[in-house]
Amino acid sequence: MKNSIFLKIFSGYLLIVIVILAITFPFSFRAIRHHHIDTLTDSLKNLCVTLNFKISSLLEDNRLEDLDSFIKDLGKEIETRITVINPEGAVLADSEKKPSLMENHRKRFEIIEAIKYGFGTSLRYSASVKEEMLYVAVPIENNGVTYGILRASLFLKEINSLLNNLKMNIIKVAAIIVIILLIGAFLFSRNLSKPLNELGHASRKVAQGDFSIKVLLKGRNEIKELADSFNYMTDQINTLFSQLSNQKEELNSIISSINEGLCVIDKEGVISISNKSFNNIVQNDSVKGKTYWEVLRITRFDELIQAVQREKNSIVNEIELNNRTFLCSATYCANKEEIVVTLHDITKIKNLEKTKKDFVTNVSHELRTPLTAIKGFVETLHDTNDNEEDQHYLNIIKRHTDRVIRIVNDLLLLSKLEGKSDSLELDKVNLNNLIENILKIFEQNLKEKNLVLKFNPDSSLPVIKADPFKLEQVFINLIDNAIKYTERGEVVISLSHKKGMVTIEIQDTGICIPKEHLSRIFERFYVVDTSRSRKLGGTGLGLSIVKHIVHLHNGRIDVKNIPGTGTNFIVTLPV
Ligand code: ADP
Repeated sequence: MKNSIFLKIFSGYLLIVIVILAITFPFSFRAIRHHHIDTLTDSLKNLCVTLNFKISSLLEDNRLEDLDSFIKDLGKEIETRITVINPEGAVLADSEKKPSLMENHRKRFEIIEAIKYGFGTSLRYSASVKEEMLYVAVPIENNGVTYGILRASLFLKEINSLLNNLKMNIIKVAAIIVIILLIGAFLFSRNLSKPLNELGHASRKVAQGDFSIKVLLKGRNEIKELADSFNYMTDQINTLFSQLSNQKEELNSIISSINEGLCVIDKEGVISISNKSFNNIVQNDSVKGKTYWEVLRITRFDELIQAVQREKNSIVNEIELNNRTFLCSATYCANKEEIVVTLHDITKIKNLEKTKKDFVTNVSHELRTPLTAIKGFVETLHDTNDNEEDQHYLNIIKRHTDRVIRIVNDLLLLSKLEGKSDSLELDKVNLNNLIENILKIFEQNLKEKNLVLKFNPDSSLPVIKADPFKLEQVFINLIDNAIKYTERGEVVISLSHKKGMVTIEIQDTGICIPKEHLSRIFERFYVVDTSRSRKLGGTGLGLSIVKHIVHLHNGRIDVKNIPGTGTNFIVTLPV
């Protein structure tokens, strides 16, 4: 099949030549034969017309013997058979045979035609001479009297042999033409198929990765244009490939040089790319091609990858591996359905954080007892001393001692809460009742500040599973803040539920938290207005505690400021 184009073009040409010859040859032979017969018919007719006068005068004088000898002499001389027939069909004279021995010619086709139309011709096999002959017959007339019919005839074997000669010559010429045509077709087909074969060969080379191949053709035609385009295309591919491989190398060196562990997991869970740091972290040098669960047998990591596959987004979580802590970030790449994982070693930061927390907890613990003692002694002094000036200073000491005790208590509570979900003591909690009970604590405060408290419970609120004491802490802090930072107006507490989540909103008409502070108010010790917070006995730890407790319950807390209206805290908890 290698030369299929060549074969197709060549055999196509061959077929066309054969068909043309097969059609034209029989037609042209027949046309030539007809032309010859027509020419002979005309000359025989002319002969008959020429002889008419002579023969009619011999017949008029009834000189039949003279007529016969004249006809025989003439026939021999001009090599044409001549026959004279009377109107009844009897042969009167013939150049070949004795007339008396010849049968009646009245029924001969050419004779019938000549009598009827004045001229008759026929091409047929002669029974008397046993050959194919051309007959021409005309009536012999003189002065309006018809004396008989003059018939001249010729053997067609001469025409046939002439035509056969002609046929042979034409066939020879045709054969030469066919050979020339076929050589031309062969060269043309080869010229056409050769560059195509070259292009095919070059394409196979390109497919095998050889972009240096070029197709060099001569001339200016469409195939040359195709070859030029092909060469341009391979040049472009070559350039693109080298650019791509450069970029790939660059990317590979970047990936391998970064300190973070990096790997790419495909949709089957197989690691397709990993860098050196990742291999070092998992202590495995050949992770490529392995499934991630073979390489990292950590439930938390497995859960993280499954969550990313399910949610098709980005998730960051901490994982513990070989006594080290890593910040693991997994990002879903939609176009290739892959997950890019980075592992950042945060062990040092974690240790530092722990040291800091331990320090705060230890200091708080150490301070707690002396502070309680100081508070006790200050109260005793206050109760036993009547001096007004002393009372004033003792009050200041007492206020500051109370503040420090609150800070210490809050810090201890925070360190207890931080990151420990097992610190929850879960029970069935009816939030309507829980909040209603808390409100009693604030009755005095509300009265003092002349504030209205509106409570909108939700009668269909489902019971949730939570730590009731910690939730009390949450709502005490939030309602306390709402009252603390509201000078006039109201505090509205509303409960509702939707899609397996309960929502508790605490809205006040107090001072608005400026927008730029909203994102930071849940940080430890973050206060918007330090002097106001201190004056109101704040520690800056209340919202931090709230956030931790809500997160331990897998809930969320949001805050909205409504300029000119107040602040709105929204706690959402799962049922
Ligand atoms: P604090 O003990 O100082 O109240 P929190 O952590 O409870 O500390 O609150 C942090 C800061 O957030 C407060 O100092 C206050 O500026 C602001 N804040 C909290 N609740 C409200 C509120 N309802 N209205 C206005 N500001 C508030």
